[in-house]
Amino acid sequence: MRSWHPSLLLILMSTVSGRIIDLSHKHGPTTFMVPGFEHYNRTLVKTLIFNKDVAVETAVYSSNEHGGTHMDAPLHFYKVGMTLDNIPLENTIAEGVMIDVSDEASKNIEYKVPLSKIHAWEKQNGEIPQKAAVIFNFGWHKKFHNKFEYINTVTDDWRQIKIPSVSEEVGNFLYDSRDIKIIGVDTMSPDPMNTGSAPIHIKYLANNKLIVENLNATDSLPPRGFRFHAAPVKYVGASGAQIRAYAIVHENQEPRTKNQENRSWIILPTWCLVIILLFSHLVILL
Ligand SMILES: [Zn+2]
Repeated sequence: MRSWHPSLLLILMSTVSGRIIDLSHKHGPTTFMVPGFEHYNRTLVKTLIFNKDVAVETAVYSSNEHGGTHMDAPLHFYKVGMTLDNIPLENTIAEGVMIDVSDEASKNIEYKVPLSKIHAWEKQNGEIPQKAAVIFNFGWHKKFHNKFEYINTVTDDWRQIKIPSVSEEVGNFLYDSRDIKIIGVDTMSPDPMNTGSAPIHIKYLANNKLIVENLNATDSLPPRGFRFHAAPVKYVGASGAQIRAYAIVHENQEPRTKNQENRSWIILPTWCLVIILLFSHLVILL
């Protein structure tokens, strides 16, 4: 059997991997929840048994709306706020940018992203587009399965929780000057939990902007050049719900990062080599 040439494998990997990035954690009975919030619970209901191997299986389930990878609807903070089922689908899909603050957060668990960080990002990557989804990578998704590391307290008092967060001035800037649609984080909240205030939740949810929390794999995102998807089920009257968040990278349509530009210098000669090899194999066969 003819083996795959390494260069062919390289080119297949470069075109297949990284196109869709799954940004969601699994949601199960042991998934981290805010202390006191009900975990996901599934109770099996078998409706029809055909034989020992085949049966129609269904289940009922319950879960707090605000656990795991999820979206906050305006109702989460406002009694007359929009419910999840009334959020237009277009509000849940947006051109994405990823701001990497994992180095800073690793040195300070209560790091607050300052405005200077956004300016530095824009200087390097261009202006954040209007109506974007701005995703912050704190590196916290790697701690999601370790409750203590994720919230930095052993108590069940959520006011003791320490996490890195987004400063109010950054929230205001992204809202006022960039008119973003969605703010997303790989922590449990863009606002700190232990200050008794939540300026980003208050401002964004009052104006039908959306907040996405507990994202996974945010370090896999490029700084820009992807579309962020975060559509929830249209649960009637809900203040939030779990989502299957993901990104679709469209490398050819957006300005690319230095690393991606460097990769094109590798990929083009690789294509040429693959074509030459295939052609030479064809000639030998003939
Ligand atoms: Zn929430």
